[in-house]
This record gives sequence, C-alpha cells and structure tokens, in this order.
Amino acid sequence: MSFEQFGLSEALLKAVIDQGYTKPTPVQQQSIPLILAGKDVLAGAQTGTGKTASFTLPLLHRLAENFDIKQKPRIIRALILVPTRELALQVAESVKVYGCHLPLRAEVVVGGASISQQTRNLRHGCDIVVATPGRLIDHINQRNINLSQIEMLVLDEADRMLDMGFLPDIRKIMALIPKQRQSLLFSATVSNAIRSLAVQLLNNPVEVAVSRPNATANNITEQVYGIAREYKRELLSYMIGSNNWQQVLIFVRTRHGADRLEQQLIADGIRTTALHGDKTQGARNKALEQFKNGKVIALVATDVAARGLDIDDLPHVVNFDLPQVAEDYVHRIGRTGRAGASGTAISLVCPEEAYLLAQIEALLKRQLPRVADTGYEPVSLKVLDAPKKHVPNKTTGKKDYRHSKKPTARTGTAKPGGNAGRRNSRGR
Ligand code: AMP
Repeated sequence: MSFEQFGLSEALLKAVIDQGYTKPTPVQQQSIPLILAGKDVLAGAQTGTGKTASFTLPLLHRLAENFDIKQKPRIIRALILVPTRELALQVAESVKVYGCHLPLRAEVVVGGASISQQTRNLRHGCDIVVATPGRLIDHINQRNINLSQIEMLVLDEADRMLDMGFLPDIRKIMALIPKQRQSLLFSATVSNAIRSLAVQLLNNPVEVAVSRPNATANNITEQVYGIAREYKRELLSYMIGSNNWQQVLIFVRTRHGADRLEQQLIADGIRTTALHGDKTQGARNKALEQFKNGKVIALVATDVAARGLDIDDLPHVVNFDLPQVAEDYVHRIGRTGRAGASGTAISLVCPEEAYLLAQIEALLKRQLPRVADTGYEPVSLKVLDAPKKHVPNKTTGKKDYRHSKKPTARTGTAKPGGNAGRRNSRGR
C-alpha cells in the first residue's frame, strides 16, 4: 500500500515525500482511510508506530478540504489533547511539518510557557490547537478560547492522560465542544478505563490495534542486571564509559532521584542532564536539545517527562529504577529500536524491585534475559511474599526496607574499577 492510495491531497503527499516516508506504517494503513471517511476511531498504538502521522495527515486533509480563506479571524476547528508539554510540542511540530504546504495554522497551548503570549496567538486566530488539558482549562476560564466550532477532536496517549488524573479536565473540555464532531482516541494500552472513556467520547468507533513491529522481540536487546541498589550508579557509569556509549536515556522513579543521579554521573565525568516535571519548560527544552545534539551523553528522566519524546535512533535505554506500573516498561524501552533500528534496553534491578520485574514479565508473558556475570556479587531476584513498602523503622523512625537483603559486597575481581580510573581512561 502507498500513501497515494489514500487519496490524500497533493500538498500532504508532497510533505510525506519530503519526510522520506516510502510507505505507510500499519497504524497509518488502518487509521487513515477510516479517518478520511469521517469515522470515529479508537486506536491502540504506541509511540514509535507512526501514530502521529496516522491522525495528523487525515486531520489536515479534512480541514483543508473545507478551508475558507475569507474566514477572519480563523476559527478553531480541531483540538488535539495530549498529556505532556513535550508531546504537545512534538505533535505541533508534526502538524507543521505535514501541513507545510497547506494554509492551516496551529497553536500550542501548554503549561510552563507564557499564558499572555498564548492568549495573543489565540486571539490572532488558528485552525488547530494542540493542548495539554490544564492550560487549556486556564484559557477556557479566562475566556481566551472558543471551542464551539470544533469539528475534529484527538486524544493522544489517552492512557497516560488518565494516569495523570486528567479525566475531570477532559470531561470539562468535552462539555464545551460540539457533540457533532469526529473524535479519535489514541492510546498505547486499551484498558477497561480507556474503553469506558471511548464510550463517553466516541460515536460508534472503529477499533484499530497495532503493536510496534518487533518492538520488544527482534531489534531491541533486553538485559536484566541483578544488582544491589547501592552499586547501580557505579555499574551504570562503568557501562557508559567502557562501552563508549554516546547517547543513553536513563529512567528513574522520582524527580529527586533524577537530580541526584545527574549529579553523580557528572561527578563520574559523564556529560549528563536531567528532565523532569520540576524543571521549567525552558530548562526541559534545553535538556532535550542538548541530548539530541550530543552535547550531553546521558539524559536522566522520569516517566512523565520522557513520555512522547521522539528521539530517532536512540541506541540505549537504561531502567535505573524499574517503573511502578508494568506498562511503563514497554513505553520506556520503546524509546529505542525505532523504525527497525537496533537498540539495547538494560534494567538494573535490585532485590527490592523483584516484584516489579515479575509484574513486567507477567505483562510481557516472557522472561527477560538475565546477565549472569554482572561483575558484582549475584543477588536474588526471587519475589518475596509481598511487594515491599517503605515503612518507618519503629525505633529510629527512619525509612526501612522490609524484606531487603543485606547489601552484597563487590567481589573485587569484577570488571568495574574505580570511578577515577574509568573517568581517566574515557578521557572525560
Ligand atoms: P510516532 O509513532 O508518531 O511517534 O512516530 C515515530 C517516528 O516514525 C517519527 O520519527 C516519524 O517521523 C516516523 N514515521 C512516521 N510515519 C512514518 C512512515 N510512514 N515511514 C517512516 N517513518 C515514519
């Protein structure tokens, strides 16, 4: 199948050729004809499948078909809701790229950026708004935006929006847009909660489901290192240095953990930056830019901040902490091995996280390959009877790990050497 067969306008076909796309991806093959035919669509598709183009191309086609050049100011006819600022910027960039030969204008409405500038842009008029729910509500409350003429609605990464507690905001927004519209819901996972959202938002939807081709099977090498928590950072620095990695995305659980690891890696001589929700939009953009252009080697990120990042050909992903939600494992490692490129996804797992590993493996229905010789004394990743909770120690009041094993000592015969040695040998 080719893009020409969809009946997309010349302007869009030209943009697709400019991008070097030769044939539509599976989600594009399934979704584009349905959306062009005016159907509501519920699509189960992750980042990396080409999902953005699968809704952006037909959306632009439909809007351009009935575009009235004389309409001044422009009225907002399409709303794309996404969970994070980064994803909003990326989707808006796709709208711009695919719509570069069309007269349509898009605005981005996200938190962390000047609301007055956004207000001016909105007053100036646009055809498409790409928004995160919170800031959109701010504009609604300030009467800066009119959603009464919306013809097309897209909810992208809807599962993440629910995880982030956006359901009340989504309901509020829905109450302001016309019932008569075309709605598209994209979600990496199609859970019962997503189905129930679909029932509320979509009209007789057609369901489309694709998995990222070979996502976790062929082109991504997955490895689990069983290692005591306190040696994780040392092992990570060693991996980066000894393998001469030039670009690695590292996932941690908390914002604080991201900052701490950033500092530790910098102290190990590794050019590192962190990306998390406590950073200003400017700092987040800068971190991403530095990572993309190679100024930093390592980007330490939390799940929320990393959601939707589109970094092509990312060779290495490391789970420094395992995700609390098993599905996030799939999102995380989906950052590597895109578009058929090969990648490695390494998980550093301490005994306290064994139950999280078990949950991931239950979701994937397969065991992740263990690295037998980690260079450290082996630790058991057997699941103990219950998930461990951080509980205060009765006598000291300090946090304690129930069931946690005593830290294993390094054998001394292991690969990792001292930090200084590695730093010097890497010349950093
Ligand atoms: P997405 O799933 O929207 O995050 O897209 C993932 C990546 O695939 C992006 O870098 C797109 O530019 C790229 N892409 C989208 N559609 C195609 C296609 N038909 N052929 C090749 N690459 C594509």
